[in-house]
Amino acid sequence: MSQRLIMHIDLDAFFASIEQRDHPEYQGRPLVVGAEPGKRGVVATCSYEARRYGVHSAMPISEAFRRLPPETIYLRPDIARYGEVSRRIMTALEAISPLVEKVSVDEAFLDISGMERLIGPPERIGHRAKAVIHEAVGLTASVGIGPNRLIAKLASDYQKPDGLTLVMADQVEAFLDPQPLTVLRGLGAKSAPLLQRLGLRTVGDVRRLSLQELRQQLGVLAGTKIHEQAHGIASDRVHSDSERKSISKETTFGRDITDQDLLRDTLRWAAQEVGYIARQEGRTGNTVTLKIRFRGFETHTRSRTLATPTAADLEIFQQAWGLYRAEDWQGRPVRLIGLGIGGWESEASQGARQGDLFDGMRSGPDPKQDRIYETLDAISDKFGRRSLRLGVRRRKE
Ligand SMILES: [Mg+2]
Repeated sequence: MSQRLIMHIDLDAFFASIEQRDHPEYQGRPLVVGAEPGKRGVVATCSYEARRYGVHSAMPISEAFRRLPPETIYLRPDIARYGEVSRRIMTALEAISPLVEKVSVDEAFLDISGMERLIGPPERIGHRAKAVIHEAVGLTASVGIGPNRLIAKLASDYQKPDGLTLVMADQVEAFLDPQPLTVLRGLGAKSAPLLQRLGLRTVGDVRRLSLQELRQQLGVLAGTKIHEQAHGIASDRVHSDSERKSISKETTFGRDITDQDLLRDTLRWAAQEVGYIARQEGRTGNTVTLKIRFRGFETHTRSRTLATPTAADLEIFQQAWGLYRAEDWQGRPVRLIGLGIGGWESEASQGARQGDLFDGMRSGPDPKQDRIYETLDAISDKFGRRSLRLGVRRRKE
């Protein structure tokens, strides 16, 4: 039996924890990393002390400000510095398994199948991963281990912060059954309300329906997908970063958002994070994708192919924002927004564009711009400066 074992790692309150680690005077206090109070924008991450007031990621900063006490610390995100911490975490995790897939700055999947022989039982592997991260960067993470990606991810979310949740194959259904339907992927605009109308509220409720019933209700494709997940069946493949097809970042709001400035700022941050990771991995892509979900799960993606590949925050943001503006979506309540970059340029043509191979023949984007980002990332890595980001800080209007 080749039972696969997948581990999902999710750092706890990542941005906020880095700030509290680096500034002991912030420890034990509510802290928000995100937009400036008094301006538009959202909370990127907040400390657990702030969460006690009901504040969470993607909450409008004005609402967070209303809830939080005066001693709260508000900081602007410094993606490059957080990215450097992220890089150290990912490198440290390679001591656990050679197969590490970074899914965002603070999340990774590891294939730990067969590692029992080297490290010990799954629980010990989980503890080892937490210890390795703590040694490398002094932060806590929540770890989930399960037979596939879906279960591992839900498990890491199960006990936060500093959690370790193990769900073995024979425990999957008991683990899934009480969870709300929202944990299932691919519930479309019509499926979610439909299931609710049928009186189904938990994964267990859905699991009690037959495949045939679900297909009748939701259609063959969605019905099959939901049936599989309700039975704990999902992908158990972990892709190393070299196989990564795209880099993306999405934000789910706590409530539906119509404020255009807020949506724009959220996309700006996403572009910063995505651009930073792409540059760290030495990638440029020619496809920018916008993902948006409206009230009631109605989800759309739009892509644009660029004439010249990019990894520049500003370019990625402008393309994604352009995709949004090109639709008749203004004023519609948004639940989730995100963007991604993919369509990687091969190393050879990248080299050519940068003039390594055919100096003087380059036709790509301004190489000066590449160098600007290189310099900015290097400076931010070194000094953690907040101010040195292009096209990210909002100008006073
Ligand atoms: Mg996290």
